[in-house]
Amino acid sequence: MREEFRLLIGLQDIDVMIKEAKDKSTSKELQEMGFQLTGLEELQKARKKIADKIPPSLLNRYEKLADHFTVAILPVPGNMCLGCFVKLPTSFFSSAYSHELLTCENCGRLLYIP
Ligand SMILES: [Zn+2]
Repeated sequence: MREEFRLLIGLQDIDVMIKEAKDKSTSKELQEMGFQLTGLEELQKARKKIADKIPPSLLNRYEKLADHFTVAILPVPGNMCLGCFVKLPTSFFSSAYSHELLTCENCGRLLYIP
């Protein structure tokens, strides 16, 4: 897998954690479960570190997708986009194995072969 993809996936994981930490109802639940939510600042620092390593054009594309979808970058375990559940064309997979950046033609999410 390409390094940029790895970074994007890491960035997405952090974004999910940041969203959860910011979400007040989640925060309250987590606090009641005994979790401390003081890590938001650290998460944002870590996010910046990762974002700095991603090429701006790719980061830009991810940010736009992340505005619309909770999950903007997804693995493709079979022949289906797990974002919109549309079957992907065979031609998709020949390019997939050349490690190019892949985009679902139906929903626009970024896809990768795990
Ligand atoms: Zn899709």
